[in-house]
Amino acid sequence: MTKHTLFSRFSRSAPELFHSGGDQSALPGGSDLRRRLALMEDFENTGLGWFWATDEQGHLTYLSRNAAEQLGAGDADLMGQKLTSLFTLDPDGDLDEVQRPLAFLLSARQSIANLPVRVATQSHEVWWRVSGKPVLNAAGVFQGYRGSANDITALRKTQIDASRLAQYDALTGLSNRHRMTRRLTATLNAYRTAKRSCALMMLDLDRFKQVNDTLGHPAGDELLKQVAQRLETIIGNKGEIGRPGGDEFQIMLPDIDDRGTLGDLGSRVIQMISQPYSIDGSRAIIGTSVGIAIAPYDGLETEELVSAADLALYAAKGGGRGQFRFYSSELKDGANLRRQIEEDLRDALASDTIDLHYQPLVRTANHTASGFEALMRWNHPERGWISPAQFIPVAEDTGIIRELGEWALMRGCRDAAAWPGDLRVAINVSAVQFAADDLPRIVERALKTSGLAPDRLELEITESIFLGDPHATRIMFRDLKAIGVRLALDDFGTGYSSLGYLKNAPFDKIKIDQSFVRGATEEDNNNAAIITAIVSLAEALDMETVAEGVEALDELSLVTNLGASHVQGFVFASALCQAEVLSRLEEGRLTYEPRGPAKHRADRRTLYRKVGIIHEDHRYEGMIRNLSRTGAMIEGILDVPTGTQLVLDMGEGQLAVSTVRRSNGAAQGLEFETPLVNDGAGGLCTRHRISPYALAAAGMPLAALPSGHYPLNSSGAGSAQSGRPKFLQIELSSLSHSPR
Ligand code: C2E
Ligand code: CA
Ligand code: CA
Repeated sequence: MTKHTLFSRFSRSAPELFHSGGDQSALPGGSDLRRRLALMEDFENTGLGWFWATDEQGHLTYLSRNAAEQLGAGDADLMGQKLTSLFTLDPDGDLDEVQRPLAFLLSARQSIANLPVRVATQSHEVWWRVSGKPVLNAAGVFQGYRGSANDITALRKTQIDASRLAQYDALTGLSNRHRMTRRLTATLNAYRTAKRSCALMMLDLDRFKQVNDTLGHPAGDELLKQVAQRLETIIGNKGEIGRPGGDEFQIMLPDIDDRGTLGDLGSRVIQMISQPYSIDGSRAIIGTSVGIAIAPYDGLETEELVSAADLALYAAKGGGRGQFRFYSSELKDGANLRRQIEEDLRDALASDTIDLHYQPLVRTANHTASGFEALMRWNHPERGWISPAQFIPVAEDTGIIRELGEWALMRGCRDAAAWPGDLRVAINVSAVQFAADDLPRIVERALKTSGLAPDRLELEITESIFLGDPHATRIMFRDLKAIGVRLALDDFGTGYSSLGYLKNAPFDKIKIDQSFVRGATEEDNNNAAIITAIVSLAEALDMETVAEGVEALDELSLVTNLGASHVQGFVFASALCQAEVLSRLEEGRLTYEPRGPAKHRADRRTLYRKVGIIHEDHRYEGMIRNLSRTGAMIEGILDVPTGTQLVLDMGEGQLAVSTVRRSNGAAQGLEFETPLVNDGAGGLCTRHRISPYALAAAGMPLAALPSGHYPLNSSGAGSAQSGRPKFLQIELSSLSHSPR
């Protein structure tokens, strides 16, 4: 047997190795020894396991022949080599193993138990599992190691495959939620010590569900793959992309905190995702919204950062399609308000704090009302009046809208039945209600209970109903028209407009959204042309038109001239309670007098935002009168010479270093050292914020930036107040009333 030739090259033989104490002559009986040797040899030959031994320096003194062969080295070459040199570190350390490396265990003379190690000498992956124990002689002196090993390459491969599966999204190959969370946590932990920043982008696809529903699931899968590829093209090695599930994506971007750069990246992502896709010959168009949060500013821990990015994403979606949003603490306040609204909404109906008010829809021809739109009003016991624009979306998300909407139908019909003649009531019906099968029965019940004629009830629905199942939508239209109620298309032009559906949908009226009326009288926009187009389209389809949100007299004459058949707006009246409606009607006052400003005042983007003005080490209170990328007009301190350096504290750690360029009494024109950037919400923000690390260095606890203002100098909070003022502070309340 070659085994013996191998042995003969070693200084000691196998039996000697596998009995502690060293002196084999002390062993009882030569036949027993031979039996043991044969057994061991058999075992080694099966390939199930091998033996190894080292001297006290960790040099190999024995290795089973099969093992040496697997290492591809001549047996003799291995003897005397360091055991550790046979193995290498796992290059992609993918498995969740917390283990102390072999070298450490050996040098600490500790036992080794089932340690997986990667064989260094092979180009392909070979893994062994190694066990061993330190050997002491009779005097207790360390002699070296003896141990065993076996090949676990196959096992390891299945483990790694399983772990890949557990970490990567099988469809796109991107990291899954588990891996993203782990990577983010590891990065944030490491970065906190290194005082580095890390941004997190959260994406949610718009209209993905439609593609899935219309083109089928395989097409939806293909679309997700293409989205992943586009993201990889844009992000490259700037960050790690994950797909936590469904049509959501996450992008972790280490070492980026510049909101200019992040905003640009967010816009590029939106733009790239919104390009058409070709899927099996079909064309699909989707969009995406993006929420962005940055550690350590918006959160230190994974959970905090993820929920900040989530809130930003939510706000981005709420702002319409294809937008990005940065997290700000206002969003958190908004979310808290939402939660409160959600909690209180259920009681609101029962406690009678929600009411319906009615705003007249006035004929342009003779300024008489043809009917009223019912608008919900909520007088919250603690918060006062809450706008339906605020609580209706919450009601829609939570499903309470069905109950609330049913109540509005019952109440609206009942109130309208008390109005004389053929005055109509228009009631808003949410897309959630429209998608529920029982809507026709609820409408019928409301009509029956109130005794209102069906053609005196008008249901206002928005374009968003066309996002639902087209078949169900057709059936709902048919059933509602069969009852005899009228249908109005609300907020026209703001949604997923497609003129195509108008031809086939049985609308009696189109309501032109306020955003087209607003500014239509100014020269540099094409709103008037859009209104003209909508009016002629409606006329061709035999529908009425309502211009919504008309406030000024010039707007009224414009929409009248453009041919709108009806006007709804503050120029005639805002919503009135039922008692007021009734008393007007009893007095026979059916005509409405236009009242309002002669001209719509152009939105000058005038802001009245409180800011801190820091000069040297004193802090003043001021107001921003208007703001642009490059500068601001501020008020609050008197007679500041031009050329003075000031720092504007715009809250949430946003400090803008500026120079006074113009000065006139209490007003100064400032130029920023670094221009502001787009905040994604139509406003502006600073590129950088004061770092929580800097605040922590100044003695404040390390935390994400809360709202409010910040001290500039590093000696701690409030110290800016202590400086001696150079300039005179003007009472802010006197400023807020000053004409401008
Ligand atoms: P909407 O259906 O577009 O209702 C018109 C909104 O414009 C009302 O706001 C109204 O007060 C406001 N408005 C009317 N004239 C003018 C004007 O001249 N200038 C300006 N700036 N605004 C004007 P409101 O009452 O705050 O309602 C907001 C939205 O809440 C409604 O928009 C509607 O979408 C929703 N909503 C209100 N009541 C209900 C309801 O009972 N059910 C459902 N589903 N939604 C409702
Ligand atoms: Ca409406
Ligand atoms: Ca509307």
